[in-house]
Amino acid sequence: MAWKKSSAGLLLAASLCAAPLERFEAVEPHMGTLVRITLFAPDSDTARKGFAAAFERIRRLDETLSDYNPSSELMRLRSGPPAPVSEDLFRVLGAAQALARETRGAFDVTLGAAIRLWREARRNHRLPSEEERRIALQQCGYRFLKLDSRRRTVQILRPGLQLDLGGIAKGFAAGEALSVLRALGLPRALVAVSGDLVIGDPPPDKSGWSVQVDRPLVLHNRAVSTSGDTEQYVEIGGVRYSHIIDPNTGLGLTSRTGVTVLARDGTTADSLATALSVLTPSEGRRIALRHHARVWYTPPQ
Ligand code: AMP
Ligand code: MG
Repeated sequence: MAWKKSSAGLLLAASLCAAPLERFEAVEPHMGTLVRITLFAPDSDTARKGFAAAFERIRRLDETLSDYNPSSELMRLRSGPPAPVSEDLFRVLGAAQALARETRGAFDVTLGAAIRLWREARRNHRLPSEEERRIALQQCGYRFLKLDSRRRTVQILRPGLQLDLGGIAKGFAAGEALSVLRALGLPRALVAVSGDLVIGDPPPDKSGWSVQVDRPLVLHNRAVSTSGDTEQYVEIGGVRYSHIIDPNTGLGLTSRTGVTVLARDGTTADSLATALSVLTPSEGRRIALRHHARVWYTPPQ
């Protein structure tokens, strides 16, 4: 609320109050899933501009970070000398590599070859042979990816190494979409890219956004991500495997534990939720603490 001083020297509330805010919601398909944006704006025109700019940011990020699109910036990277990359790609790879070091490779975006082999297994309902997994895992390893922040370059040291940002890009994109909305003066917003939520300022007259993740929470200026096998899994020989793979075996996880992470930004929440699915709960809690994040484990249903 704005205030102005009257001639009598009294403070009076000015009638310059902003128009009451209304709630708007829009959904679009991006990054192989649905993106839902909810925001508060003074009118539908302002809301429409906000949606258009935020979805456009996500569309552009998908062009950069997608591992499904062979012409994305990510997929054009090859082994060889250091290659300059965009700021967006460098930021995501920087966060991914930091977490890879911290988790000693439990979270690893260089697992592309093993992830592709596993996707094929999910499609064909057939486990890859030990030999196929060994060959795929030979082409993986975060130590074969070097970043130079001064030059903003990326170097792939192992031929055949493939990158996959499926465990981190959605949270990053949700955070970037919220930043776009903030820059347009629409900070009271929530961006959900599938199970990765980034939450801005609270709705008018509320202390936060009510979200139902593993449990009901009221949040603002936080991010929440959930990883697990409730939606994406395959059953082979009576065993249920997750789409998250164990870097030691090249097979999908079978622990069936769901992980929900509450963190201060989307990139952290998304990547931690994937990483903590691989690690034991005691290792996971220790790492979450270091990131000032909270974690909940859901036992198998
Ligand atoms: P999320 O749904 O965020 O947990 O991410 C799952 C996706 O991350 C998978 O579909 C793969 O693309 C990728 N992924 C699988 N296993 C790993 C892993 N151990 N480390 C990093 N990314 C992984
Ligand atoms: Mg994730």
